[in-house]
Amino acid sequence: MNVAGIFEEAGLEPREKQLVVAQMIAENIHDHNILLVAPPGWGKTLAVLAALKAAKKLPSLWLVRALTLGARVSEDAIKLGLRPLVLAGREKTCPFYRSVDDLAEYCRLHRAGCPHFRGLLELAPELGKMLITSYEDVSPGVCKYYIDLFVKADIVIQNYHRRRPATPEVTVIDEAHNLTTPQASRFSALSLEIALDAVKDRASYLYPELEKVVEELKLDDIATMEELFTIHQEMLTKTGKSPLTPLVKFLKALAGGGVAYREGGVIEVYHPPLLRRLPPTRRVFLSATIPKEVEKVFNSFTIRIPAKPRKAFIISDVTSKYGQETVWGFAKILAALRKHYRRNLVFSTERILRQLLHFIDFYEERLPSDWQGVAAYNIFGRFSEGVDIRADTVTVLGTPYLPPDVTPRYRKYFEGLGIGEPEIVIPVSATLQAVGRATRHPQDNPLILLADYRFRRFRLDALDVEEIEVKDVERRGYLPQS
Ligand code: SF4
Repeated sequence: MNVAGIFEEAGLEPREKQLVVAQMIAENIHDHNILLVAPPGWGKTLAVLAALKAAKKLPSLWLVRALTLGARVSEDAIKLGLRPLVLAGREKTCPFYRSVDDLAEYCRLHRAGCPHFRGLLELAPELGKMLITSYEDVSPGVCKYYIDLFVKADIVIQNYHRRRPATPEVTVIDEAHNLTTPQASRFSALSLEIALDAVKDRASYLYPELEKVVEELKLDDIATMEELFTIHQEMLTKTGKSPLTPLVKFLKALAGGGVAYREGGVIEVYHPPLLRRLPPTRRVFLSATIPKEVEKVFNSFTIRIPAKPRKAFIISDVTSKYGQETVWGFAKILAALRKHYRRNLVFSTERILRQLLHFIDFYEERLPSDWQGVAAYNIFGRFSEGVDIRADTVTVLGTPYLPPDVTPRYRKYFEGLGIGEPEIVIPVSATLQAVGRATRHPQDNPLILLADYRFRRFRLDALDVEEIEVKDVERRGYLPQS
């Protein structure tokens, strides 16, 4: 059946352009990956779902940044007569989430004896007969994490990082601009020190080598790491607790190709780009913001729907450039925003935000529904990935370059992806991704501020930029009020 027939059968009337795009995807998906760039609210989800159905590319896997976005995909799939299945990570599906350290490892060791997994096995023959579209549909007392082993679906929806189900026909990556933006995990130096003390108590012969790894931020000796894992597993098996957990996670991040960087009492580990870690299937990349310069990275048949650029302001008398940081200028911007606007969303690097904590009301945390003031997030932090926040303003403080120590080591990943200019691609992707956090819906219209003169260097197709200075932000009424 062609896509027109699929829409008709579902009683839906797509827009002409939506129908054309869906047909193009259905015809090309057999031979090419697809990149579809279209503004929020254009109808990308329905077009792609109809194309997958028409091309008989089912089951498919749909990766979303945050599960809240998965609900929309699930609803659209049902409209087209497809069976969706929303899967969540262990934090939402495993009853041991709060009581056990290193849950993934604990589960690996204990799954066979886990009463909730046994409950799932007992329920398995029934699951096929039940209408289950989400992990939330499964009764309590049963492991909801592994339901994909027993529930059949046409479209499996989950976040980027969860264990992926058996090989799908196509992997759809929603908000694909996230794939090229580096993401960092944070480890407090204190938690690593406490874990090292536990090593001293339990296996002092491993201590010198592990202390060196934490000191030099480099992992050369996998054998030491494996010995530590064995001790960690023994502790988890006995009590579900292991004081070694932060150290084990840190070593795993390094062993997975992470590049570590120390900033005060925090160590950040920058993970390899997600684009390197996708399943080996045909792919459909979706985005509202991928600029032309970054397009080639996706090596795809590209369909681009023109969008009206959003208005943005470059604040040209501030910078986060190393050695020339205008922290006081950033502080003045935050103070003025708090005075003139109710909800202000701010993204920057750990290095800058830590110097501005007095001007920030919420830092790297979930916001209450009635929040007001300044909420700030590490632009490369994994925490902000799942966050969509409606705000009156969204500000990027400083051009988001990777720390100088990290860039040369990170470059090899980008060269492997065919990105010759990580110095451009990373800040452009990170900036558009940050702005996208507050512009998910067509009706969102926050004031967009890019606070660094170096933003001038980039072609930000999605933004129509004008230059201003800090004093203009301070002047009430100079900037548009949301
Ligand atoms: S099998 Fe399921 S319920 Fe049991 S530990 Fe693993 S994720 Fe948790």
